[in-house]
Amino acid sequence: MKPISGLTAIQSDRTKVKIRSQRIRTIAVVLAGIVCVYGINLYTTGVGDVFGSDTTDGLPNPDVFSAEDAISSYLDLVDTSEDSIFSEVEPILAARLEEQSFPNASSGPFHAPTLGGAIAEQEGASQLQVVNITIESGDNLSTLFKTHDISGSVLLDIRRNDHATRPLNKIIVGEKLEIHKSEAGELEKFVYVPNLLERFEYTRSDVGFTTNRIEAEIEYKPVYKYVTINDGESPITAGLRTGIRNSETILNLTKKLEYSIDFWFDIRPNDTYKILYNEMYLDGSYAEDADILAAEFKTTRGTHRILRYEVDGKFLGYYSPDGYTLKRQFLRAPLNYTRVSSDFKPKRLHPVHKVWRPHNGVDYAAPTGTPVRATADGTVKVASFNKANGNYVFLTHTGNYETRYLHFNRIAKGISKGVAVEQGQIIGYVGSTGYSTGPHLHYEFLIAGKHQNPRTVNLPEARELGPEEIETFRANIADLEARFDLAHKNWIEQSTVVAQTSE
Ligand SMILES: [Zn+2]
Repeated sequence: MKPISGLTAIQSDRTKVKIRSQRIRTIAVVLAGIVCVYGINLYTTGVGDVFGSDTTDGLPNPDVFSAEDAISSYLDLVDTSEDSIFSEVEPILAARLEEQSFPNASSGPFHAPTLGGAIAEQEGASQLQVVNITIESGDNLSTLFKTHDISGSVLLDIRRNDHATRPLNKIIVGEKLEIHKSEAGELEKFVYVPNLLERFEYTRSDVGFTTNRIEAEIEYKPVYKYVTINDGESPITAGLRTGIRNSETILNLTKKLEYSIDFWFDIRPNDTYKILYNEMYLDGSYAEDADILAAEFKTTRGTHRILRYEVDGKFLGYYSPDGYTLKRQFLRAPLNYTRVSSDFKPKRLHPVHKVWRPHNGVDYAAPTGTPVRATADGTVKVASFNKANGNYVFLTHTGNYETRYLHFNRIAKGISKGVAVEQGQIIGYVGSTGYSTGPHLHYEFLIAGKHQNPRTVNLPEARELGPEEIETFRANIADLEARFDLAHKNWIEQSTVVAQTSE
């Protein structure tokens, strides 16, 4: 049996991996994700004080969802204060964005500590002036060279010697350039940085400009963290406090677990999670978090372990230790956790909560306009408006399931009776239409016409691995799990040592 490559990366502490274009894409996606998260603080404003005292046209069935349960859940969710998780996360992300877009402004991404110093050595006494440029919309090389007083013949010469994988005349927004000029104002060196992994240097010589492609050396280092969520913290703030560098890694983890855990309701103080993941280093400097290898999330509702399954370098998915895929017919919550604007504050008591009537669903307090997702593939049974429900959508799903979504500010485009929807598709936007006193989503879950508690109803698991594959899986996973558990043991021992020395 061959070891899986994920494990190899853990075994040797400084595994070197060749550049693949796939990695470049990963970075682009990760960066896009960060920008996306960075934008979320838009949602933190306008969270009204909310209480979902609605009625529905469904059958009343108070026993499946007790008032106490509803109130205790609800208290956890509502927080309209300013100090949401994102006000804390935001500056970190902002700092990271800057750092990532250009790790070292004066030297370019790969040359530590300073390229300027290196050039001064090479060129003798003459100092080069370096101008860093980020490509903006509408830029092209001709205009940029003109702006920086570089003659057209120099550009022609550079183009003649252009051996970049994507030619210089195809530069795109966000890419980096460096212009290195002599004191006399001559272009001595021109650098094109299409991504974090490679750079193309065009250096003046006797025979014109010569081209040099320089690859960053990539390493992956496994990192283990054991995170305890304190009172008032979200999984994100707790993770960042414990030393996870990128909030995207934590969001990624919640995404993988969103079939099992309702991150809007299920998180309590003293919940914990363990995570083993790779950090990516370029030329010895931390660049980005890479794949999650194993993780375990423990809430009062249960413990969920996920493992990255890879055979011969081919990624096959994340599975539970007994070989179940994490994907299910239904998402646990109809709102994406990454959109959560209010943090966990169990002690906060909303005055309106003194009154509560048992009702048929779960209320997710969220700012007006928060997108709401179909929790499963299905068909629109009705998309309409009435006095009680406001704008509402009912979906039917295979297996005699039905889900209901009430009080939309508006129903998403194209959602009308008979239309097929996919799991995760946006079907409407949170509002306060109908019998509702503040923006929230009222969500119901029915099996064979009978209301169930959406948060606790058993959702069928799916096994993807065949009987033969499950054996391969178990053998590989046993190794990964052993490493995961050993990492935890080391963590506990280390924190014991730290506790002792600090006494
Ligand atoms: Zn409700």
